[in-house]
Amino acid sequence: MVLKICETGDPVLRRRARQLTADEIVSESTQVLIKSMFETMRSAPGVGLAAPQIGLNVQLAVIEDKQEYLDKMPPGHAEERLRGAVEPQVIINPRLTLQPGGDVEFFEGCLSLPGFTAIVPRALAVRVDCLNESAQPVTIKARGWFARILQHEIDHLLGTLYIDRMLTRSFTGRDNFERNWKNLAVAECKRLLGE
Ligand code: ZN
Repeated sequence: MVLKICETGDPVLRRRARQLTADEIVSESTQVLIKSMFETMRSAPGVGLAAPQIGLNVQLAVIEDKQEYLDKMPPGHAEERLRGAVEPQVIINPRLTLQPGGDVEFFEGCLSLPGFTAIVPRALAVRVDCLNESAQPVTIKARGWFARILQHEIDHLLGTLYIDRMLTRSFTGRDNFERNWKNLAVAECKRLLGE
């Protein structure tokens, strides 16, 4: 079932979500919820969706980056972002650890702020310790775009949105992004924007 996505201004997006117990994770209702979250993310389409975005105050997110999304990108775009296909992942009760490598800056969007995008600095590499959909502990080590997605989704579970971290002068509507910024390097965008 495709669920309604909450937009910025909904208080649920600003709450710290609560952890799920192992019994809750393996319950029928959570398993159905996970299926619905994947359906909702794919129909949007998006590469990540956190439970607060569908109005649920729990620490659960789904992630998937499909090869077909990468195939539609201009040459070099995915390589510059270290973006590769990511198999479907369920992230529950995550603990995020930033890894050495510093920050990287790219335009980023969110299904809860439809029609907008901004440059957001994110750690290049992260480690996430969490539970999967079977309540088993897993460790994910990620770099590049996958690391960015993980940071974005885990932020949602803590009540944080990308607009809290963005370079504020880069905030733009999608139409203006396509017209003015899409084909420029991020460093050039920052120079022109005075960031
Ligand atoms: Zn988001």
